[in-house]
Amino acid sequence: MTTPRHWAPLAPPAEPKAHGRLTGRFVVVTGAARGQGAAEAEALAREGARVIATDIEPVGDCRRLDVTSDQEWSVLAAVLRETYGQVHGLVNNAGVTWRARLGEVRPEDFDRVHTVNVTGPLLGIQHLAPLMPPGSSIVNVESAAGLTGHYPVAYTASKWALRGMSRTAATELGPRGIRVNTIHPGFIESEMTASAAPAFREANIRETPLGRTGTVDEITPLVVFLLSDEASFITGAEIPVDGGLTAHGGAKSISDALRAEAP
Ligand code: NAD
Repeated sequence: MTTPRHWAPLAPPAEPKAHGRLTGRFVVVTGAARGQGAAEAEALAREGARVIATDIEPVGDCRRLDVTSDQEWSVLAAVLRETYGQVHGLVNNAGVTWRARLGEVRPEDFDRVHTVNVTGPLLGIQHLAPLMPPGSSIVNVESAAGLTGHYPVAYTASKWALRGMSRTAATELGPRGIRVNTIHPGFIESEMTASAAPAFREANIRETPLGRTGTVDEITPLVVFLLSDEASFITGAEIPVDGGLTAHGGAKSISDALRAEAP
């Protein structure tokens, strides 16, 4: 297959770290045009990785990749095979939300969210895992919604499905030395959350023991860690990065109420 011009390999970071934690690794990040994906791509490059940043809306150094397109994944895999021969990391970060509730959600919206948030990561793993040597690592970007009964039902169902798929992938790919983990951000400031109602932000802060929202730069260290050899015995893990949002299982409001009543 000939390499389309826009799939030319990324230049290495301006000053690649010779002894970074990811020096010599090729890592694909999806949904990297903005938000968490852009921050992850930058952080990985700072640790010496050769990052192939992709997005459905390519900007800057991003290559176009619609994660729902089997054909586009196929082209990317062919180019990576031809250019580098192997891939050491995949961050399935691209995702969409849809804030319809249980009684309102339309089947077509439910399916669309599932296709981006679940089928997308599945295709990424199917196409790139064959290029991964032992020691490679896949990070699936989940959500607190994948640990709770969060109100946007299509999003919540998709993130629970991604969690199940990730566990299967960890089981199947483990014998080949490929690790698969999920990270579960809470409320992170990004374009996705900027479009939510103010009440959503306020309620999240109220339910978060650390009492604030998070930033994209509080997600990236975990992604770098999971892609590095420092996490060499960690697979199938589901790690919240949420200021404690999912840890209390609803008990925070009880604790807060009793504290308010304490003499
Ligand atoms: P964002 O909306 O700012 O960025 C998402 C990126 O994904 C965008 O660049 C978008 O163009 C891209 N994208 C959407 N559909 C795509 C497709 N079909 N193919 C390729 N790229 C596509 O959101 P974010 O906050 O940076 O979210 C990143 C990930 O983190 C998502 O999986 C999201 O579900 C998850 N997450 C976000 C939060 C939060 O509070 N922001 C919380 C929990 C989980």
